[in-house]
Amino acid sequence: MKIERAERLKRLPPYLFVEIDKAKKKARDEGRDIIDLGIGDPDIPTPNFIIDALNRAARDPKNHRYPLDQGLPEFRQEAAKWLQKRFGVAFDPDTEIYPLIGSKEGIAHIPLAFVNPGDYVLVPDPCYPPYKSGTWFAGGEVLLMPLRCENRFLPDLKAINHAQMHRIKMIFINYPNNPTSAVCDKRFLAEVVEFAKKHNIIICHDAAYSEIAFDGFKSLSIFEIDGAKDVAIEFHSLSKTFNMTGWRIGFAAGNKELVAGLAKVKSNIDSGVFFAVQWAGVAALKNYDKHINTVLRIYEERRNLLVDGLLSLGWKVEKPKATFYVWTRIPPRYTSAAFAKELLEKCDIIATPGNGFGENGEGYIRFALTVDKKRIKEAIVRIKDRLV
Ligand SMILES: *Cc1c(COP(=O)(O)O)cnc(C)c1O
Repeated sequence: MKIERAERLKRLPPYLFVEIDKAKKKARDEGRDIIDLGIGDPDIPTPNFIIDALNRAARDPKNHRYPLDQGLPEFRQEAAKWLQKRFGVAFDPDTEIYPLIGSKEGIAHIPLAFVNPGDYVLVPDPCYPPYKSGTWFAGGEVLLMPLRCENRFLPDLKAINHAQMHRIKMIFINYPNNPTSAVCDKRFLAEVVEFAKKHNIIICHDAAYSEIAFDGFKSLSIFEIDGAKDVAIEFHSLSKTFNMTGWRIGFAAGNKELVAGLAKVKSNIDSGVFFAVQWAGVAALKNYDKHINTVLRIYEERRNLLVDGLLSLGWKVEKPKATFYVWTRIPPRYTSAAFAKELLEKCDIIATPGNGFGENGEGYIRFALTVDKKRIKEAIVRIKDRLV
């Protein structure tokens, strides 16, 4: 039998990181000492108090059954409390909050609830890939919003083609931003809310990096804008905040009809987040204040080391205010892919070529601050000595 993949899979663009992955594996097999600044996955372990909460909950047979749909009331209540404390916004834990198997899951599924075949979805470019693939899986068309340095990596809503406006169903935004590490201000979010209301467009705000911010910067929830709850849903993740990427837990918060639509899709696909992981999530959110500064200090030191190091080599880099990425231009004689290859071949350093996140990422490279200070210092020495 000839096995044919469905058109929706076939139309996904080739996975641009495959070549780098292969090269990385080859280099490791050759016994080379690779510094991996490629992946956005914290190297810092999950705090013990969270592991203890999981342990306790895992031993309780009550938690061994299907968690289903809304899951544990305590998790939703704790999420609502955290949102209230952190952003000053009130949510009804029963109708406006929903647990997710990691925020990626919710992000990838939300178009299935609201996008009809042929509808347009506005997606920033470069971006986190599920905005595009989720749209395509729902039969929607992606309309790219270029993120450009001269516009501080914010999309230009005025540049959106008016002739297409009536077919636009949804917009994805993501601040603090992966991969550009850009942040946004209240004025921008207000502009997005006004735009969405005027044109009847659903806002999906990906807030995965809301807590990874430096120099006193506090990132915003879209719900700090009046009226946002009429049009928006926000995706929160425990992954980056609490070093819990492998645990798979996050939550959606926002307009109750948007939450209910997502819930309907999910109830037909998954059966919820393991109760013990939700209890671990309760412990995490409860102890946010005690935990967060430890993490931020670590990333801030790494950020300073990497950026100051690159500056000392004559690179033009800015210190990001948020996320654990450094997004920087590469020398004009290279493509992003060629530069990433050069870094790997000559310096045994992995970084992610900007074009892997979309065509507008060409000319950039992303370094993830997910190795310790010693390795970052070593990376700078290697770039200085080996890359001319
Ligand atoms: C890491 C990441 C997420 C989601 O992570 P989960 O582990 O699925 O919660 C979402 N958006 C962006 C931009 C990310 O980088």
